Amino acid sequence: MPDPVEKIVIVGGGTAGWLTAAIVAAHHQSKQPGGLQVTLVESSDIPTIGVGEGTWPTLKNTMQQIGIKESEFFNSCHAAFKQGGKFVDWVHGNGDFYYHPFTVPLGYGRLDLAPYIEDIANYAPDANFQHHVCEAGLAPRTMAESEFKGPCNYAYHLDAGAFADLLKRHCKANLGVEHIVDTVQEVKLAADGGIGSVVLAGRGALTADLYVDCTGFASLLLGDKLAVPFVNTDDVLFNDTALAMQVPYATDDSPLACNTIATGQRAGWIWDIGLTHRRGVGYVYSSDYISDDEAESDLRRYLGAAAEGLNARKIRFSSGHRAQYWKKNCVAVGLAAGFVEPLEATAIMLVEISARYIAENLPPDNGVMPITAKRFNAQMEYRWRRIIDFLKLHYMLSQRPEPYWRAHRREETIPESLREDLALWAHRGPTREDFDSAVELFPAASYQYVIYGMGFKPDFTRQTYLYRRQQEAEKIIQRNRQLTEQMLQTLPPHREYIEQWLATA
Ligand code: FAD
Repeated sequence: MPDPVEKIVIVGGGTAGWLTAAIVAAHHQSKQPGGLQVTLVESSDIPTIGVGEGTWPTLKNTMQQIGIKESEFFNSCHAAFKQGGKFVDWVHGNGDFYYHPFTVPLGYGRLDLAPYIEDIANYAPDANFQHHVCEAGLAPRTMAESEFKGPCNYAYHLDAGAFADLLKRHCKANLGVEHIVDTVQEVKLAADGGIGSVVLAGRGALTADLYVDCTGFASLLLGDKLAVPFVNTDDVLFNDTALAMQVPYATDDSPLACNTIATGQRAGWIWDIGLTHRRGVGYVYSSDYISDDEAESDLRRYLGAAAEGLNARKIRFSSGHRAQYWKKNCVAVGLAAGFVEPLEATAIMLVEISARYIAENLPPDNGVMPITAKRFNAQMEYRWRRIIDFLKLHYMLSQRPEPYWRAHRREETIPESLREDLALWAHRGPTREDFDSAVELFPAASYQYVIYGMGFKPDFTRQTYLYRRQQEAEKIIQRNRQLTEQMLQTLPPHREYIEQWLATA
């Protein structure tokens, strides 16, 4: 008996809910007669998390797929370019820093430069011009280049609330998404143990073929009703609290950073994200190692006079993810599926990937749904494991002396998969072959930037016969110097570029 999939209900109107709605509705032509029916329910009484300002370059494709112009996005969301992350005070805590830029190293996949670089901490500056572009605070492109393009790979910094509003407007006006403002009071089970309906306070029961749980930390459908357990990972990643502040610029023309700045602290790290109209700054820390009051005074010390008169908002969270992400006719996306600290801004990227998978693999018939669910779960499980390993890598290589950092280096806190990776990398750097899974998130380049930036140098001397391409390596480094010169001369200052571009777009 055919059992067609005709209607999706998304519960939750944060970034996850609206981004999922946009991606699914755009793919399934919800605006056209015969297209898939997509309904989003959000409560006006339950606020969204309201943070989440750093993204990945994947968002460029997503915006094009859902049909939002880059200039419209910048205007609506006070957006700025993000060309990577600058990690300050992660190695010793004495002003040291390194970059994880979005552009891959020169010669990537052809020749790993690491064996030929004397001081491994110089890896990013020698292998990649974007390190220098970020240090100089430049835009990733000139006025001659068009939207979504440019010589430097980039993502965005955005105002989370404004982004959800933009997506909402776009979903309703252009993508055919039905919007219901109401609160889910009860979730009813179907006879097969899936979701039967969500009961709204005002409108009563709402049914669908697939329910997408975007209810944030509440995980109302998947976690609460379907009882999928939460897998806690705070034995690996210790942070459980964030103090967030919205910080105005001193003047309208204050410099605008073109990368996220993550500054190591005694019990965590501070994010510093530049939007065009303000900065988003917050301290993510472990409450086992510092009190909330001490953390707040550290955050205020970091900000100096800029923090005067500002309130810090405290957010507690558990690090981890659900044991399954798709069960029966319910799939969780966003915080409802899981959350680990925002060190590499992976959350919105996971929303994009999850929503795209749902859109592209949604079976036309409910009978096939269990297979789709099984495959989605396998992919997501792998991705969460990789994310946790990659975040932990940032901590375990640190030489900072404080108890929090020393605890991060304890062997029992390091996942076995990561210990295995490091055992291999002790004699050679990460290679593309280490990351050949089709569902990989971070390429070898990301691992190279982080381990070399943290000062981890593989012992290349054991197989010196493998590393006799000195001349080729020098040519690549020389080419990087030329490109750097060129970029520094042609790319405009970040803020200036955004203002000029938006004035003419
Ligand atoms: P929420 O924003 O919490 O939305 C939940 C929605 O569900 C709301 O609309 C609410 O009304 C609705 N809802 C709940 N219960 C009901 C009900 N009973 N009935 C109807 N509706 C209901 N991500 C990044 O990618 N980059 C970052 O830099 C980043 N930084 C972060 C920093 C911190 C401190 C934290 C905590 C998170 C950060 N994140 C970041 C994660 C990011 O904020 C989230 O992934 C993103 O905002 C998506 O949230 P959400 O939509 O899943 O949940």
